[in-house]
Order: sequence, then C-alpha cells, then structure tokens
Amino acid sequence: MGVTTMNKTAFKKKFLDLLTEKFAISVEDASLFEIYTTLGTLIRSSYAKDWRHTWSNYDHEQQKQVYYFSIEFLPGRMMKSNLLNMGWLDTVQAALADLGIQLDDVVAQEPDMALGNGGLGRLASCFMDSIASEGLPGNGNGIRYKYGLFKQKFIDGYQVELPNEWLARGNLWEVRRESKSVDVYFNGYVRLNKLDDGTIVPVHEDPTIVRAVPYDTGMVGFRNGTVNTLRLWDAEIPLSEESLYRSIEQRRAIQDLTSVLYPDDSNEEGRRLRLMQEYFFVSAGVQSILRHFKTKQQKMQNLDEFVAIHINDTHPAMCVAEFMRLLLDEEKMSWERAWNLTVKVMSYTNHTIMSEALEKWSVEMLQSMQPRIYQIIEEIDRRFVEEMTGVVDWELIQRTRIISDGLVHMAHLAIIGSHSTNGVAKLHSDLLKTVVLHDFYRLYPDRFNNKTNGIAERRWLQLANPSLSTVLDKTIGQTWRYEANDLHLLMNYSEDKAVHKQLQQAKQANKERLAAFILQETGVRINEHAIFDVQIKRLHAYKRQLLNLLHILTLYFEIKEEGFTDIQPRVFIFGAKAAPSYHYAKSIIKVINEVGKMIQEDPEVSDKLSIVFLEDYSVSLAEVIIPAADVSEQISLASKEASGTSNMKLMLNGAITIATLDGANIEIRDAVGDENIVIFGLTESQVYDYYEQANYHAYSYYEALPKLKRVVDSFVDGTIANIYQEGKEIFDSLLTYNDEFFVLRDYEAYVNAQKEIEKAYQNQERWLKMSLINVANAGRFSADYTVMKYAEDIWQIEAKPKSRKAKDEKYVPYTL
Ligand SMILES: *Cc1c(COP(=O)(O)O)cnc(C)c1O
Repeated sequence: MGVTTMNKTAFKKKFLDLLTEKFAISVEDASLFEIYTTLGTLIRSSYAKDWRHTWSNYDHEQQKQVYYFSIEFLPGRMMKSNLLNMGWLDTVQAALADLGIQLDDVVAQEPDMALGNGGLGRLASCFMDSIASEGLPGNGNGIRYKYGLFKQKFIDGYQVELPNEWLARGNLWEVRRESKSVDVYFNGYVRLNKLDDGTIVPVHEDPTIVRAVPYDTGMVGFRNGTVNTLRLWDAEIPLSEESLYRSIEQRRAIQDLTSVLYPDDSNEEGRRLRLMQEYFFVSAGVQSILRHFKTKQQKMQNLDEFVAIHINDTHPAMCVAEFMRLLLDEEKMSWERAWNLTVKVMSYTNHTIMSEALEKWSVEMLQSMQPRIYQIIEEIDRRFVEEMTGVVDWELIQRTRIISDGLVHMAHLAIIGSHSTNGVAKLHSDLLKTVVLHDFYRLYPDRFNNKTNGIAERRWLQLANPSLSTVLDKTIGQTWRYEANDLHLLMNYSEDKAVHKQLQQAKQANKERLAAFILQETGVRINEHAIFDVQIKRLHAYKRQLLNLLHILTLYFEIKEEGFTDIQPRVFIFGAKAAPSYHYAKSIIKVINEVGKMIQEDPEVSDKLSIVFLEDYSVSLAEVIIPAADVSEQISLASKEASGTSNMKLMLNGAITIATLDGANIEIRDAVGDENIVIFGLTESQVYDYYEQANYHAYSYYEALPKLKRVVDSFVDGTIANIYQEGKEIFDSLLTYNDEFFVLRDYEAYVNAQKEIEKAYQNQERWLKMSLINVANAGRFSADYTVMKYAEDIWQIEAKPKSRKAKDEKYVPYTL
C-alpha cells in the first residue's frame, strides 16, 4: 500500500505521458473527453492493485462478506468521488489547473450512471460508498442496463422520455469479466428423475439459456485502501448455444433482457420482462457467490459463516428460492439443512408501505418462466403452512402464506426466508410492526428491526459543497471529513456572528452557481437573493408536489388579487421524473410548467416569484441544487414516505426543512429541535383515523377556505392557460375523488407553515442560526453509521483493523 505521497509534479508527468500514449496528442490539443479518459485510466490503474488485494485479503483472512442485491444502483458520476476517496482531489485539481484545465469541466464529461429511479437506487449507492469507506467486506450485485433510466425533456411543458445512452462512449470504470460468466435457465419444464437408490433428481428440460456476463466496478473506500466490487450483470447468448439462437428475434429477446430499467419504483409494468430481469440477476449473483465459496475448501454447511445476502426491497426476493435450488439440486443437501442455512444467510429491507408496490407475481407466469423455482416456492409455502397449523389461527396463516389467490407474494417469501426484516426509519419500522406487516410481526417478532437510512456525506457535502466545506475546515478543523458526527463541533459557534456570516457567504456563492447553471440550461435569469425553495424527488401523488403548487398559486393570487406587496421573493425549484405510464404525475408536471410560464410572463409577479422546473433530475443535478437550497420541501402525506433521503442531503447543506411528521423527517426534528424545523399537517395517526372512520370530506375544505377555493378553481376556470385536460384531472382528483392524499386537508397548515418560513428568513440572524444547527446535527445521518449497524446487527460482518475508516489526514493510500 501507498507510502510515498502523490505529488503534483509526479502526477503531471504521468498524466502527460499517458495522454501521449493513449491519444498521441499534446495537452493543448486534447479534447475534454480525451483528458477525461486519460485521467480516468490513471485513476483506475492506480487503485487496481488495492482492488485485487482487497478481494484476496477477504479470502485470505476468511472474512465473512455481504452481497447487497439491488435491482437499482444510482451512483451518479464516479470520477470526483474516486479522487476524493483516494486522497488525490486537491493535488489533481491543482495539477490540472497548472495545465490550464478545470477539473470540473473534465468530470462533466462523465455521463451519470443512472441505473435507478430514485431513493432506492441512490441508497444502494450511498451504501456502497460507506461499506467501502468503513473497510467492510461487501459487494453490490445488480443489472447493467444498457439504457439507464429515460432522459427527461419538456416539450410544451409536457414530459417526454428519450433513451439515455449512457454507454455510448464506453464506461471507464467497469471491467468485463468474461471468465466469471454463468448460465441462467428460463422456461422449459422440470422432469423428476428417480435414481436407483430412490433419490429424486430434478432436471430442467428444454430451457432457454442466457449467459450472464459480469461487469465489475471498483468501489473505492475513503482513504483506507479498501476497494470493494459492484458487480453488474449483462445478458448474452451462450457461446456453445450460438447456433440455437439463429433468428434475429431470439437474439433480440436476450439483448432486451438487460436493455431498460423499468422506470417506476412503485408500480409494476412490463411485467414479464421485469420478472425475467429479477431472476436473471438473482440467479447469476447467487451462482457466482456459491462458485466462489467452493474454491475456499470450507464445508458447505458452514456457509453462513462466510456469506450474507441482502435483499434490497422485494425485487431480489427470489434469492431465497435460488439459494435453496442450488443447495438442494447441485449440492444435494437435505431440505432442513438447506433451509436452515438460507434463513441465516438472507436478510431483507422493506422500502415502502404503499400496497401497490408490494410485488405479487401470478403463479402462471412464475411457473412457466421458472418451473423449478416455482416448485421450491410451493414447497416453502407448504411447509410454512404445515409448521404454523395449530400454532396460530387459520386466517393468519392464509394472510401470511406465500402463494394465495393465484399470486406469489414476494414480500412474504423474503420475510419467511430470511432472519431479518428492517424498515428504513423509526416511524416506517413501527408501521411495519403495527400495521403493514403486523401479521408477520406476530409470527416472527425477533426478525423485525429498524435501520434508518443514511447518505454518503462525502459526496453530498465534501464534493457537492466545497464552499461550505471550507468554512467548516476553518471553523472546526477537518475531522468531520473522517467522522461525520464531528460536525457537531459547529454547535460551539451557533451564536457566532462571524461564522454565521461565512455560512451566509457560502450559501450565496452556491446560489449564484445554481443561478448561472439555470441561466445556461433554461435561459431564465432568477433573483439570486430570493429564497431558494426546493422540492426534488420522484413525482408521485403521495409526495404532494401539488401541495407545493397550491402554495405558489396562493402567493400568486395574493399579489395579483389582494394587493400583497411585501412578499419575500422566492424561487421555487423542482426536479422530478414521472413514470411514463403514470398519467396523473405527468399532468402535475404539465400544470407546474404552465403556472411557471404564467408567472414568468407576468411582470406584476415575476420579480417576486418564479418556478424553475429543471429537466432530467439526476444525482449530478442534485449536487448543484442542494448546496444552494434555503428551504427543503418534505411534505409527503404522513405515513407514506418510508424514510426519504433528500431531506438528509438538504439538511446537511444548511437548508431549513418544512415537513410533515413522516419518514426520517421525524428523526431530523429530533436532531435539530422544534425551533429549527417547521412542522405542519396531519400526523400518521390522524391519517389512520380518517381511514378507519372514512370521514374525510375534501369538499368541505374547498368550501370553507376562500383562498383555497380560488386556487383550486384556477385549475378549471381558464386562469392558467393550456391545461384544459390536466387542470380538470387535478380538480377532479381533489373534489370528485375526494383527494386521496389529503392535500386540501393540509393546505391551511402548510400555508401557515410557509408564512413561518418567510418570517424566519426575514430575520437573517435567526435563520443563519437555524441553518447552522441543521448542519451541525446532520452527522448522524451519515450512511457510514447506517452500514455499521447493518454490519453488526444483521450481516455479522466486520472490518479488519487496518482497513477500518481512515482517520489520518496525511495518509494518501494510492500512489501513481
Ligand atoms: C436522494 C435522491 C433521491 C431520493 O429523494 P427523496 O426525496 O428521498 O425521494 C432521488 N433521486 C436522486 C437523484 C437523489 O439523489
């Protein structure tokens, strides 16, 4: 491992040599992409040795490893994060500057690796960063989608989806590992062969075989020499079967398997292909884990001492059955022994209580696509029912069994087949126990636990917000860069005017950076001294972007019709993709865009209000928006947002949260105290009361509140141009269909909460103190702590002392 430091001169020489070697070009003539490629190659080759060592050390030291299975990963760009974690960032930045190159222009050449929809995939990637940074033996397992999530454009205010060709210019970070390929079987049928000794051997006849080829990407830990692996699988035609797949259609069917990520994290679509994807990466991943284990000369029955498999949401739930299949059919283990191991190895995270997102597959589809897996699931189900009969009542068994009403319930499979089920925030985990999974909690109380989500604070603060990072370094030293809880040292300066001033200047610099970005992207010039009010997340009715819009329209009418003049100017910033099939969400986008246009074209309001809806929300966009935010909108209907993580990112960057008591908002309030967050709206128990009593009448709020009526009417009375259909649809959702997410119910409380925000902002002394307290208390949401809890409580893995989290500011583990 590196002992000599990485110095600027050595780097420059090496960089220029490699540029010549690769492109036969001088730095003056090189394109930014050539520079990007050269720098990326240098980075990768410099961590390659540690990558190899990390892997072989885990084996050599007989360390137990976790494999984190997730159908989505959303890493964003890798270059700067790798530079930071290698300890190279400042040196490389300075060296390139000497050569007349801005590092930020170079890193912008990298397309976002956008293999996820939103929170679920981003969490998986934050965890990858933190697992490596804690020196924990852990790897990711997923799918290498050829087109990431769609690219979003607005045309006439409507969302249009275009393919995201993120691989068009290659991918610097991945390594194709042909030799680690495995075959995955689909379709066909199972014949049970009886051997002479009476044993029964299942044979999968007439299968369609797909070759799974892994592409590995190094996950570089923060200054600790650990480089873990994110393994993403691609589908190819098996070499030996080439001749069998002659037709274009057959070839295309295999390519299609890993072509797109289903652009929705809460509704299922493209169902058959999606199910194929799920089995594909599950089978490939589990097979490769077992194949690797068998090289270790360990007994199969001790496998749980070496392997933990994590099921991130229900999509990889077939891990349970695939693991059983391999132990039974390939390893000839008894059912009891195999089941015992499976439950010990598997663990599951539930990410949502929205019932439409709890996956169910039809028996027919699963049985025809995976005849052997289906048999195994049937047998798990049969034994489950047998075991519970007489122990608990019959109705409970019917509600919790895996197969019922012609459907296979994937969450049930995941819970029954694993030793741990966790929710992702305190409230969410409580709701799992008391409501959503209450039946399972009665059966397996010890399996349920909470692990509140976290974020990779290195990316969301050190990388995204250098202005704030510099203020922190100067005020509290650098240890917060290693130990997120040291941000708490900032509390010593909560009344310090000079520190307040610096925080204010950092925020202003970030607002100017965002304003310049917005000007360049949209041509719109925004007021850099307005309140920057930010809501960035998937577009979904439960997240209530509509409530935000109702407030904006309220301000609009106050200016236009009530003569309000002393409104604090605000810029409302949105970023959100809607699932292509989610009609209602797309209508909301259209209406927000039209209201934005109406405001912009009206000089009477345009200097006080503006709406900026940025296209194609992504990790890289979030990195520009979040540091500039004054206000963080976390306004989902209480009980619906499992945790949320943009709430944590925004808090860490000093935004003040306006929030319902939902998901991790509650834990943010506990961290900062009531005076430093603005809470409003129904609580989760009030929401459940409404459900129980069925006594919510949206219309009564519309009738009783003239301001609300004015706003809701504007969707259908011609006030807003070009929204004839969409406006009516929203109007009807609120009044005809009784407002499923209690938007009208929470309206008044929300508008009042926004007044409180405005008042607080107008008292900058108070505001800056609030902001400081938010930054100071955000350390607890570092994913470093979250993954350590998973490691201790669920996975039972640990870091070897020398790969533990770095603490030494001088230590640069990677040399050239
Ligand atoms: C953090 C993040 C999310 C999750 O946002 P929530 O507000 O928690 O839903 C989604 N997309 C991207 C790109 C993110 O960085």
